[in-house]
Amino acid sequence: MNESSSIQRVAILGSTGSIGESTLSVIRGSNQYQVFALSAHQNINRLFEQCLEFQPSIAVVSGDVGAQELAQRLRAGGSKTLVMNGSEALAQVACEGEVDIVMAAIVGAAGLESTLSAASSGKKLLLANKEALVMSGNLLLHAARQSGAQLIPIDSEHSAIFQCLPVADELGSASQTKTVQKVVLTASGGPFLKTPLAEFASITPAQACRHPTWSMGDKISIDSATMMNKGLEFIEASLLFGLEPDCVEVIIHPQSIVHSFVYYIDGSVLAHLGVADMRIPIAFGLAYPNRISSGAGVLDLAKVGKLEFIEPDLVKFPCLALGIAAAHAGGTSPTLLNAANEIAVSAFLNNKLSFLDISRVIDGVLDKIPCEPASSLAIIREADLKARNFANNMILKGKI
Ligand code: NAD
Ligand code: MG
Repeated sequence: MNESSSIQRVAILGSTGSIGESTLSVIRGSNQYQVFALSAHQNINRLFEQCLEFQPSIAVVSGDVGAQELAQRLRAGGSKTLVMNGSEALAQVACEGEVDIVMAAIVGAAGLESTLSAASSGKKLLLANKEALVMSGNLLLHAARQSGAQLIPIDSEHSAIFQCLPVADELGSASQTKTVQKVVLTASGGPFLKTPLAEFASITPAQACRHPTWSMGDKISIDSATMMNKGLEFIEASLLFGLEPDCVEVIIHPQSIVHSFVYYIDGSVLAHLGVADMRIPIAFGLAYPNRISSGAGVLDLAKVGKLEFIEPDLVKFPCLALGIAAAHAGGTSPTLLNAANEIAVSAFLNNKLSFLDISRVIDGVLDKIPCEPASSLAIIREADLKARNFANNMILKGKI
């Protein structure tokens, strides 16, 4: 194989976010990848800088006005990047023939169409956008299986499990599930692990965004503070690895060094360790089945000293309990949970909802909207919309 034919072309959807920037950092350190497309919601300044550095063929911006501004600035800067706008453009880029790898790093349901598009068109799909999987469940996995897309989890816990499984190239395959007894997802516990429940009512968005071990976007930081992130990851693990929810567990590990465990039927337990740096799972996903340098620091276990493991407190963190319950309920439950959570987190970030009310809104939605079999995309979209409307109404009317 000559040098140029081994170059992989990458579309990074959500390139201005935390995962997007980490992906570009890994690509900057390797000569095996070429950036084909980049995308951003509103941060035109950062996308402009990224375009000048990586000279992608296409840049996608959510809004028309932002796209025009970016196109003008790029033209003035002598760049040939084509600027497109809207979610259809994202979906189009994700299935573009010239693209080998799609990094799905948009946050929330906004990434669903483009993630599905990459899954349906046989791409190597690096899945950071866990909400897309949680809300569409087996439909996304089915689309990937049908097209031959290679789905590689980027969430550090799921990358860890993927790396500890016996046959890593076929997610949820029978050979995996027969010998795997259970998987245990580690959770840092977030910034309020040791905060007494009595103080939860006064938690502010700024406090909740300050994660002790990971640096991430606002939405996932709040999800980590409520532990809904682990609830979503519980659903994600059950789906990705074809495991009954009873075979998925969560354990608090404040140091964020062990990223997850796989328990085998013979009593062996495999764990994946590393410093808390998302460039590790990203580099793994980009290069799989090979390995490349990620730029992350070396793990110094003597410096870490001790590794702790603690049972999660489901009373203090009801969002985790809601996530686990939704995994057990199946059908549209995870869709409803995810939609209600997105609305509640956004309201909390905008100071329209208290920290404690986040779980109450989600609980209210799951209680009032019936769960149905998630047999089509239309049903999923309808459930998503119903949950958003219901949650918005609860918040607007203060009926929580
Ligand atoms: P972020 O908020 O830092 O970045 C989100 C990206 O998506 C940005 O580029 C933004 O422009 C884009 N975006 C936001 N809303 C959009 C919309 N409506 N339409 C189109 N684009 C939009 O988020 P992040 O922390 O990078 O997380 C991205 C995804 O990866 C999330 O699903 C998150 O759960 C997952 N994830 C993140 C981490 C982490 O360490 N940050 C770890 C594991 C999983
Ligand atoms: Mg994670």
